[in-house]
Amino acid sequence: MLEKMEILHVEKVIEEFETMTKDTENVQRETLKKILEENGSAEYLQNLGLNGRTDPQSFKACVPVVTHQVLDPYIQRIVDGASSPILTGKPITTISLSSGTTQGRPKFVPFNDELMETTLQIFRTSYAFRNREFPVKNGKALQFIYSSKQSRTKGGLFAGTATTNVFRNSQFKKAMKAMQSQCCSPDEVIFGPDFRQSLYCHLLCGLIFREEIQLVSSTFAHSIVHAFRTLEQVWEELCVDIREGILTSRITFPSVRSAMAKLLKPNPELADLIRRKISGLSNWYGLIPELFPNVKYIYGIMTGSMEHYLKKLRHYAGDVPLISADYGSSEGWIGANINPNVPTESTTYAVLPNIGYFEFIPLKENVEEQVHDRGDANILSMEPKPVSLTEVKIGEEYEVIVTSFAGLYRYRLGDVVKVMGFHNSTPELKFICRRNLMLTVNIDKNTEKDLQQAVEEAAKLIAEEKQEVIDFSSHVDMWTDPGHYVIFWEISGEVSDEVLKECCNCLDRSFVDAGYVSSRKVNAIGPLELRILRRGTFQKVLDHYLGLGAAVSQFKTPRCVGPTNYKVLQILCDNVVKTYFSTAF
Ligand code: AMP
Repeated sequence: MLEKMEILHVEKVIEEFETMTKDTENVQRETLKKILEENGSAEYLQNLGLNGRTDPQSFKACVPVVTHQVLDPYIQRIVDGASSPILTGKPITTISLSSGTTQGRPKFVPFNDELMETTLQIFRTSYAFRNREFPVKNGKALQFIYSSKQSRTKGGLFAGTATTNVFRNSQFKKAMKAMQSQCCSPDEVIFGPDFRQSLYCHLLCGLIFREEIQLVSSTFAHSIVHAFRTLEQVWEELCVDIREGILTSRITFPSVRSAMAKLLKPNPELADLIRRKISGLSNWYGLIPELFPNVKYIYGIMTGSMEHYLKKLRHYAGDVPLISADYGSSEGWIGANINPNVPTESTTYAVLPNIGYFEFIPLKENVEEQVHDRGDANILSMEPKPVSLTEVKIGEEYEVIVTSFAGLYRYRLGDVVKVMGFHNSTPELKFICRRNLMLTVNIDKNTEKDLQQAVEEAAKLIAEEKQEVIDFSSHVDMWTDPGHYVIFWEISGEVSDEVLKECCNCLDRSFVDAGYVSSRKVNAIGPLELRILRRGTFQKVLDHYLGLGAAVSQFKTPRCVGPTNYKVLQILCDNVVKTYFSTAF
């Protein structure tokens, strides 16, 4: 019997979204009420004296704004198997490993069914808007997704990266089917134990089903670029496999081999076609549409630290549109991209008011002087005063605070966003940067965004030599006196010393922050140093993070390496081939 395929009712999803965002304030109030009712019995909330109250005023008066560090001891008890309700009413059975570390181990955050449901709601919402502009037929998706192992914690909970927890959830596959975006690779490849082997097989599956591929995607744009860089290296081996119908012996896992054997048949015509197509390309431009003629768009998170990879992705994509995926984190989702037509760099995310309770710390005047009268001692404290979702102002920047269905209350996410407008009464946010990623020696402050812009500017000089910056990072070297910025570059090929010296000067000049410029002029900050890395260094950095249990699907190159991140700093420093100091000031 034919299984009836449930296709998502796109117009209905949009209608629900429109209704909800016309009533954002009430929906937020109701969402907070629901979160607090469901979790009122949790020890954390009990101790804060809410006494059953669920309104925003009482919530803000009783519950403090916290960082992960404050909640960590509670989460740790859950991880260790405590059976009483600690952060949520219902027991937490799964833990996500978020990016970043807490005291040298991966940061843990709770994951539950409610979080899974909000994830799917975000996916459905952006899909509905996307599909209006770029409809996909019932084809396949070439998805570079990888699921790391789910392990068990000491207390018996499942632990994996958030993407792993999502991909392994039975609802995920159903949702992807309903969105006509099913992965062309078998589960054994997605869940394969070795990411390199999985990547090779994803590429092979994509080529086998090339006519059916409707979209190419990954969680973050970095993985898509990484995949096609790999294809440049392994395409001949892929062609041999397709010609002979036998998988290369490099793929060693029996489950992956047997799943691939079911798809591979000797197909010399296809192998010849791919060879012809690739040989006809100039410097790999337009590789994606050449190999996948029916692809409608390329999809993945492309903003924030992913912007660096857009140039390369556009090169591979030719005229195929790039669409940024949604905005969220292991801690919870925030907004959906409902304007897929705008240029990727201008993507905004409309907040879904029913997936969490959101507050925002204004960055312009982020401190409120509060005089606490404690007996005879007046204590002056600096407290950021957050505003609610409907109180944010267009053009202003904020740090995001999340209250989720998974046990996080007034949790500082650490991201900076800018309000670009409103959709009905919900704000549309542009992702700006991570708040704590900062290059600073003394009075200077340069964010991840400033760094990216400086690198972009300087990279134009090597683009004239037909070379590119594959990836980059930075570090503040305080061992020298005065301290100075160090920028690490891995570049695609040979560039003369002269040009690289100019790049170094250009980087130094591109940090226009007044504190930096004035400090440089009086040598309170030393000359910027550009260190060129051996090819493959960032692959080593990626391997290092994978070794710590990170997933490729969630990988973000650390843009600023702190002095305590010894291992990554060591990998970078051990692979320096050339060093330049700026003479710009
Ligand atoms: P993780 O902790 O690995 O789940 O990563 C979550 C972080 O990735 C967020 O806090 C953001 O800093 C970043 N991120 C997630 N979605 C986006 C997006 N659409 N644009 C830019 N950065 C994002």
